[in-house]
Amino acid sequence: MTLPACRHCNAPLPQVFLDLGHAPPSNAYLSPDRLNAPEMTFPLRLRVCESCWLVQTEDFARADSLFDAEYAYFSSTSKGWLDHAARYAQGVIARLGLDGTSHVIEVASNDGYLLRNFVAAGVPCLGVEPTASTAAAAEALGIPVLREFFGESLGRRLADEGRQADLIAGNNVYAHVPDINDFTRGLAAALKPEGVITLEFPHLMRLVEFCQFDTVYHEHFSYLSLLTVSRIFAQAGLRVFDVEELPTHGGSLRVYGCHAGAGHAETPDARAVLAEERRRGMEGAAFYAGFQARADAVKDGLLRFLLDAKRDGRSVAGYGAAAKGNTLLNYAGVRPDLLPYICDAARSKQGKLMPGSHIPILPPETLEDRRPDYVLILPWNIADEVKRQLAGLAAQGTRFVTAVPEVRVE
Ligand SMILES: [Zn+2]
Repeated sequence: MTLPACRHCNAPLPQVFLDLGHAPPSNAYLSPDRLNAPEMTFPLRLRVCESCWLVQTEDFARADSLFDAEYAYFSSTSKGWLDHAARYAQGVIARLGLDGTSHVIEVASNDGYLLRNFVAAGVPCLGVEPTASTAAAAEALGIPVLREFFGESLGRRLADEGRQADLIAGNNVYAHVPDINDFTRGLAAALKPEGVITLEFPHLMRLVEFCQFDTVYHEHFSYLSLLTVSRIFAQAGLRVFDVEELPTHGGSLRVYGCHAGAGHAETPDARAVLAEERRRGMEGAAFYAGFQARADAVKDGLLRFLLDAKRDGRSVAGYGAAAKGNTLLNYAGVRPDLLPYICDAARSKQGKLMPGSHIPILPPETLEDRRPDYVLILPWNIADEVKRQLAGLAAQGTRFVTAVPEVRVE
């Protein structure tokens, strides 16, 4: 078999970092009437490049087929994420001195959850968003939106039209683009000579540290260290000059980039994160070896808990029908006999079934009626918020369980 090639540097990729078997796309929630139809699954395997240390999904099919699912995520449904976006906007407007003469571009602007803050501050902006339903929601807020995928050709077109940006923002898009080189060249093309790029993405260092293997899914193509991002930037004529460590998604980075020749000085924080990644060995094979065994230990722990609960006649419900839960449940082979239902507040998911595991998704009120012995909280990153919401159940004896980085029963 020919080895796949690195998406960044084209080196062959002999080293498998994590193999989660086959799984359906994580957002392919099923309507009950689809249960008698075949269900597509794809290999879910990550490889690490031993030249540039980019951890990446293995190519298997045309990427755009994954985005055919009816379900579209609207960022504005999360209060916590809206607050995060508002704080960022306020901070970056002040830091860069943005005003009515500036131009801001957001790539993957979704429903306008971020750019609404720039509109409110009188800073001209442009969203780039290929998903029609979310783009329409942003336009309703007065945000101009280009309904396209971002890459080098769009970046060049914006430059030709005199629409280069003082700020290009990308929140949780960089890890999700299949061609990261083309995307990065697009950023360079669309950026003014002294402009600033900010990108947020989950930090691979934390993924490994906290064994967050359930954040792996097909649409999440790249798993990034600052070392690797610096290399990808350099190839496109860009450089990283600052970084912030954020608690979102279990530990994210917000990098600040600019043209290689721009005047932005490198900060001590950027140097510190690079030094910490080197200290942990992120440029050596040993760092990546052994992750599979740790993921397997998490899976085994979850199965042991569910089997013990079943044997003891204890009822278990799931909470949070998000991508993380799909990765974990499908890898562990959990089916409705071990986890009969999962509650989620999103109306668009209620009444559907989890892809692969076919566990029904029910409204949260179900928990009040059934009062399970345990609630397994699948999105561990919002576990504290969920526990607060479900405090009434806990008062009646229900116990909360999280599975990553190890099974914990409270
Ligand atoms: Zn590479």
